[in-house]
Amino acid sequence: MADPNIPQLRPGATIGILGGGQLGRMLAMAAARLGLHCHIYCPDKESPAFDVVRRISQAEYGDGNALAKFADAVDVITYEFENVPVETAGFLARRRPVWPDPNVLATTQDRLSEKQFVTSLGFQTAAFAEINNAEDLTRALEKIGRPSVLKTRRFGYDGKGQTKIVAATDPALAFSEVGAEPSILEAFVPFEREISVIAARGHDGRIASFDVTENEHGDHILRRSLVPAAVNVAVAAEARRIAERIADALKYVGVLAVEMFVVPNGAGHKVLVNEIAPRVHNSGHWTLGGAATSQFEQHVRAICGLPLGAPAPHGPTAMVNLLGSGSDRAAQLLGLEDALRDPGAHVHVYGKRRVFERRKMGHLTAIAPDAESALERGRAARAALSWVCET
Ligand code: AMP
Repeated sequence: MADPNIPQLRPGATIGILGGGQLGRMLAMAAARLGLHCHIYCPDKESPAFDVVRRISQAEYGDGNALAKFADAVDVITYEFENVPVETAGFLARRRPVWPDPNVLATTQDRLSEKQFVTSLGFQTAAFAEINNAEDLTRALEKIGRPSVLKTRRFGYDGKGQTKIVAATDPALAFSEVGAEPSILEAFVPFEREISVIAARGHDGRIASFDVTENEHGDHILRRSLVPAAVNVAVAAEARRIAERIADALKYVGVLAVEMFVVPNGAGHKVLVNEIAPRVHNSGHWTLGGAATSQFEQHVRAICGLPLGAPAPHGPTAMVNLLGSGSDRAAQLLGLEDALRDPGAHVHVYGKRRVFERRKMGHLTAIAPDAESALERGRAARAALSWVCET
């Protein structure tokens, strides 16, 4: 008999998505192309994903009534951010199939269990230690050394909940800076470059990973991604092997991202795992227009029991993020006409009305004969865009 947890969704069926940000928005648009509906569940009334679907639940993640109604209204459930409360995912999983499995959240929401999981597979990470108080930190610093990075085990993103420890840092102060929360200390990795692999795994265990992406962060936020990454064949193969093994070990269904550091090692390199994101990922945005199947469509296919698409890139591609600046205000986008003039650059606007410093407002992708030219093209189109206060 067919496993009721393995959906075989066809046009007309409904995917429930927890989270209403730009990732949910792009997932819903990819689902719509295949004739699938999406129902977005998010507490924030200004969720960008609400704009592109007909059915929404605007409610808290702990609201049992709203969650039960949501589950009744959909055929399969997924999420677009990793900090979905495990209880919420578990509650829903008793009513409807939830993919990726909520167990994955328990592993990836905690930096300590995530690192232990990665090292249990035989892969390397930065040296790390569990920190529960300032004394733990003092002891761990003797082993791990400085510079190093103190990160809260849970709920950290875009640099929140982390602080760099340098020669002059007082451990007690550093621990209070991250909120005196259970944390980990990580050795600072002198990486040559940062890369990620976006991989999709289906219910049948088949895996399709996209080409290795090279990423540049600024102030903990992704600034741009390039494909192909400037890494040799051995590093690229190792990075894909790591991501695929992680997906298999988690019995993952859907798209996941594995962020990694490439570190010089003698005459070659080694690849360290930094983080697993159990969802579509900013560093996979280039696939939308830059690959035969986008990461969003791939996720939809995987969770719906549809065959995975080809991940082949169309050519060298760059993705640049469009970040907000200044203080929180309602603002409008200017310059779209100019940004759209280059036929090789593609503009994605997330429809957020409020702009603030470092807020992800959109992104641009560009394809060119080589990755650097693609990057220039993306940046040139982005330079046309700016925000002006609404009056
Ligand atoms: P995370 O929040 O852990 O994903 O870190 C965000 C970014 O901070 C990474 O993409 C790196 O650029 C930098 N970073 C985080 N951890 C380390 C580390 N242990 N060593 C060097 N850079 C790091």
